[in-house]
Amino acid sequence: MTRKGIIGIDIGGTNIKAALVRGGRLSRRVRTTTHAHVGVQRSVNQIKSTITPLHSEANAIGIGIAGIIDSKKGVVKYSPNLKGWENVPLARILRREFGLPVYILNDVNAICLGEWKHGAGRGHNNLFLFTLGTGVGGAAICEGKLLFGAHGFAGEFGHTTIHAKGPLCICGQHGHIERYAGAKFIVARARKKMAKQKSSLAKYDLLTPKIIAREAARGDRVAREVFSEVGYYLGLGIANLLALFDPEIVIISGGIARAGRVLFAPIRRTVQQVVMGSKYRDFKIVPALLDDDAGIVGAALFAKLTRVNRPV
Ligand SMILES: [Zn+2]
Repeated sequence: MTRKGIIGIDIGGTNIKAALVRGGRLSRRVRTTTHAHVGVQRSVNQIKSTITPLHSEANAIGIGIAGIIDSKKGVVKYSPNLKGWENVPLARILRREFGLPVYILNDVNAICLGEWKHGAGRGHNNLFLFTLGTGVGGAAICEGKLLFGAHGFAGEFGHTTIHAKGPLCICGQHGHIERYAGAKFIVARARKKMAKQKSSLAKYDLLTPKIIAREAARGDRVAREVFSEVGYYLGLGIANLLALFDPEIVIISGGIARAGRVLFAPIRRTVQQVVMGSKYRDFKIVPALLDDDAGIVGAALFAKLTRVNRPV
């Protein structure tokens, strides 16, 4: 008989992805499109039916989900991706259904755990990870422990201020990093420049950060300027992180992190220029390694560690 695994689940605004995880390796992958606007009961049912084919081979369930999560109580206090989700005792509901222990945590915390133990962060006890996508999330491992904070808000990199009089962020405050490095703002920055300069980006009807990164790598001036500015703002944010947490490694996760040199060169340049004590620090800024699997791996790992009362 094969050893039982842990079901890792990543509940995002677009997809629910799950797999059986054993020692960081995934098998029996399942993926469904998230029904985000159907109300709590129907989306809980969807999560249940996603897990059903896997549960007989598992001894625990770990779930990463966007939003404000009370991991101790297993309650989703609020999730921006799922309509109507407020104070949903998701762990209890699934425990009753499947008779397995269930543990939940914020999705970026799950990604951070996954990259820490099985990806780009292996061997480091002080690291910071942030995700670049529609939004900009973040999470920290400090002295070998995941930082939750007093209210579960720790690591909200995207909502730190880098320009006091900057543009309005989705959260209602001004000049936050997400307002400069979130996907739609990268695209908007490119469009603004395209109105004034010739660019190879003009041939695309639908612009994405990925396309802009590709054209930047091919030498398009507008695209290069966009990434040099995004890299500058992220560099300012990372310099703040280094000053606060002194991590050995900063990991950038999410689709835009695959942009490569066009993104990383301006980030590294800015950090070197503005961080306090740069010549005394030995730190790396690197892309994540696990891609889309990090959240599943990390959620399963969270379940594994919490189940045996190991500090996470
Ligand atoms: Zn904000």
